[in-house]
Amino acid sequence: MKGLQAINLDEIIKQPNLTKQFSFNIDPTEIKELTGYINPSSPIRLDLSIRFADDIFYVTGELTGVLELECSRCMETVAYETNYPIAERYSLKTQKDEDIIILSKSKLQVEEILRESLEFAMPVKVLCKESCLGLCPHCGCNLNLSTCQCLKDQIDPRLAILKDLLKE
Ligand SMILES: [Zn+2]
Ligand SMILES: [Zn+2]
Repeated sequence: MKGLQAINLDEIIKQPNLTKQFSFNIDPTEIKELTGYINPSSPIRLDLSIRFADDIFYVTGELTGVLELECSRCMETVAYETNYPIAERYSLKTQKDEDIIILSKSKLQVEEILRESLEFAMPVKVLCKESCLGLCPHCGCNLNLSTCQCLKDQIDPRLAILKDLLKE
């Protein structure tokens, strides 16, 4: 992986209070290599704005793109659109509060921001549609596409016991 270039913060320190914009278009293959499991269908865009004031770098931006995920119920591929907002503060020396990330070098690792944003942008659960019927727990067929005989043929074992008891 050729990797995303880090942003040199020395240039930004020289111009305090000025907002600088950065845009990155990241290939799906690079996203796959970086995360190991996220497989987008098209390039992911990362927009960042950096402003330096009072020893603090204010980094804001957005991660946008379409991630290909699996439906939690039926496992079909779902195109999941993400617009994940980024807001972080960094500093080379001051840690006025614990949310400020201390940098050891005057470089901002874009790759780190990308990796973290992708992880946070991932939904816990994704559905192809609210009414997704999922897979049959017995034969595994996709119940959105076909119906199986499993549930019709099946007699609840608890009911079967009751029937036997009633006979006695
Ligand atoms: Zn589904
Ligand atoms: Zn079935």
